[in-house]
Amino acid sequence: MTESMVSFDIVAEAGEARRGQLQINDRTLETPHLFPVINFYGGGNEGALFGGGVHRTVKEFLAHDKEVTAGKDYSDLFHGVMTSIASLTDYGIREKKLDWYLDNEVREWDCFSDYDGMIFADSGGYKILKHGGGLEGEDFEKDIDQDKALDMQLDLGPDILVNLDHPIHPDDEFEERIEKMEQTAANAARFAERRDEVDGACYLTVHGYYEAMLERSFDLVEDELAVPIPEAFDGIALGSLVPRKDNVEVLVEAVSDCKREMQQRGYDDLPLHVFGISGKAMPLLVAVGADSFDSASYLHQAINGKYSVNLFETVPVDEADFDACDCRICNDDFHRARMRNEMDDLYQKDILGSVAAHNLAIQQRELRQYRQLIAESDQEQVAEYLEEAVKDQKGFRKFVYQLINERMNPYFEETDTTYA
Ligand SMILES: [Zn+2]
Repeated sequence: MTESMVSFDIVAEAGEARRGQLQINDRTLETPHLFPVINFYGGGNEGALFGGGVHRTVKEFLAHDKEVTAGKDYSDLFHGVMTSIASLTDYGIREKKLDWYLDNEVREWDCFSDYDGMIFADSGGYKILKHGGGLEGEDFEKDIDQDKALDMQLDLGPDILVNLDHPIHPDDEFEERIEKMEQTAANAARFAERRDEVDGACYLTVHGYYEAMLERSFDLVEDELAVPIPEAFDGIALGSLVPRKDNVEVLVEAVSDCKREMQQRGYDDLPLHVFGISGKAMPLLVAVGADSFDSASYLHQAINGKYSVNLFETVPVDEADFDACDCRICNDDFHRARMRNEMDDLYQKDILGSVAAHNLAIQQRELRQYRQLIAESDQEQVAEYLEEAVKDQKGFRKFVYQLINERMNPYFEETDTTYA
């Protein structure tokens, strides 16, 4: 039995955007925050940081591997990371290896022992559902239920955990959505029964794109739980948005409707995490009250040879202007040479790993600046920041102006209202 210390303090607000401090035992995270997705196990062995191609180079940054960091500290990119039990079997491992991975918590492996950020262990619901309710390796298939998922999550030694969820899909029929929501709620109740075993924060997953669905999602959980949600859970995680990730309007509506539900039910003090979203949607979702995100987009962009210019734009790596970037990766001759493919015997993972770290740095830098603006509790500055961020983004502009006019304008009447 453990008594975990979890608190979430909102230290400043600007409209619905908020800047907070999430404290879990002896770790603190400044919010809003992006948890980059990390695959700690890439099918390999400890000496090679468990391998995993570009994932491995990212881990070299995270684990302060001297050959990549040259002694420099990149820990600010990894204050909190997201990993999933489903990623354990990404590389078709044998069951013996899975057991070996789960034998030690992440920080008990020598190579990750220095890592001092938060580990958010996802239950892998999305992927497990996709594979018919289980995990598959070379020589095994495992059905995963709530208890098994939690056992595996706990084996990683995480700071934040979520119940096993059944994400809904835009194509699901109504009945199917309700059934998935009921299963998710039943899992949440079982998760709550075992919360004494968790030395960290327990998040509840909810699903939905608009208010009526979210209302149903919260109702079902409340019906299943023996205690009010804030007594069983330390945070809310909103899922099912990944298939809609390119439709910013849907994302903003989902997050603001989720916030509204939380307010009406008195859960507004809990942090709100949004699964699987990052990049261009983040500033808007922060503006309507999201506190954290997770995403692998920094990595997928790199794998596709894309270098982030800002939250909205990427260019092919060989067209990138490293002088225009103030991140430490681009200001390091070693990484420049890597990204330009100017060194002998470079592996793709080395070239693209540095690009991935840069892409992540861009997103983290953006959120750091945003946190500062919110800390000043100045709505006008936040609105200006949003406008500046989208000024060259045609698809976004109109939407942002609408958001500012409808949701933020009452706070500062003197704003130019010639937006639309
Ligand atoms: Zn850079």
